[in-house]
Amino acid sequence: MSALEQQLQSRFGARFAARRPLADLTSFHIGGPADLFVAVESESELQEAMAAAHGDGIAVFCLGAGTNLLVSDRGVRGLVVRLGEGFQKITIAGCHVVAGAAVDFGVLVETVVEHGLAGVEFGEGIPGSVGGGLVMNAGAFGGEIAKVVTLVHGVSREGLAESLTRDQVGFAYRRTALAPGFIITRVEFDLTGGDRAQLRARVAEVHARRVARQPLGVPNAGSIFKNPPGGFAGRLLEGAGLKGTRVGGAAFSEQHANFIVNLGGARAEEVRMLIEMARNRVKERSGVWLEPEVKLVGDW
Ligand SMILES: Cc1cc2nc3c(=O)[nH]c(=O)nc-3n(C[C@H](O)[C@H](O)[C@H](O)COP(=O)(O)OP(=O)(O)OC[C@H]3O[C@@H](n4cnc5c(N)ncnc54)[C@H](O)[C@@H]3O)c2cc1C
Repeated sequence: MSALEQQLQSRFGARFAARRPLADLTSFHIGGPADLFVAVESESELQEAMAAAHGDGIAVFCLGAGTNLLVSDRGVRGLVVRLGEGFQKITIAGCHVVAGAAVDFGVLVETVVEHGLAGVEFGEGIPGSVGGGLVMNAGAFGGEIAKVVTLVHGVSREGLAESLTRDQVGFAYRRTALAPGFIITRVEFDLTGGDRAQLRARVAEVHARRVARQPLGVPNAGSIFKNPPGGFAGRLLEGAGLKGTRVGGAAFSEQHANFIVNLGGARAEEVRMLIEMARNRVKERSGVWLEPEVKLVGDW
């Protein structure tokens, strides 16, 4: 056992684990073990864990709800941190909302709508956490998280608390320019007042559109590729005949060509083969080089 492993074990007890498999913490149900894994419950615990990892020179990866990840079969080297229930608080004062980074995005949408607040209805049905949604600049149907965020609080790779304005986050389409290793602890939003019945109707409409289009009953990680400028990845993939294409336990969904589904026992390597196959076929057919939206994590 390394000195760092001993330190984390004695500090975090059962919330620490070595060689912890990650498959059950991802929506794909795929992925090998984290060398070191810890669930933290407060900002000070997070700072301690980060400072310890930094002092030991190992990388830290923050796992949110795991809904946008393809974790390698070989797993993740270094320390994987998960934010626990201590990061699940929502505070509302007028139109100002503060949400912990581990708050489920759907719970945030439901809560603010019930308070008659508008601005995040687009997020109905986007799985994952507020922290993950922030990092990915999650969005749908014309809305995105960047439009309503004012301040982001977190901890730097060195273990120091930091706050960033919206501009400092560097939002772009499905990405941000946060410093490597920065872990978000809570996010502040400015929403607008709205009519509760109209907001509920808007949420129901978003829900219906999602249910009609997406393979919701089978493990997946949402859209595999980002939409290219002016186009739709799904159309390009469908045009290249990828719907239903299968490698091992992984296949492009018959329902939506931009989703890869785990039909049972899929390995990360099989999903990666599908991703590369699709990129090459779409490039040959349409000249477009698709960029993955799903994050490939770990040791490939
Ligand atoms: C069925 C389905 C539908 C989806 N539909 C959409 C959609 O319509 N629009 C859309 O944008 N996305 C969609 N997604 C993708 C995914 O839900 C979002 O990207 C989501 O915001 C990811 O959040 P997460 O907590 O699961 O993050 P994870 O997948 O765990 O992580 C994603 C990235 O965020 C980082 N991260 C997570 N939490 C933190 C934190 N606290 N601090 C720092 N970094 C952090 C991780 O390190 C990683 O780099 C869908 C996924 C599924 C499975």
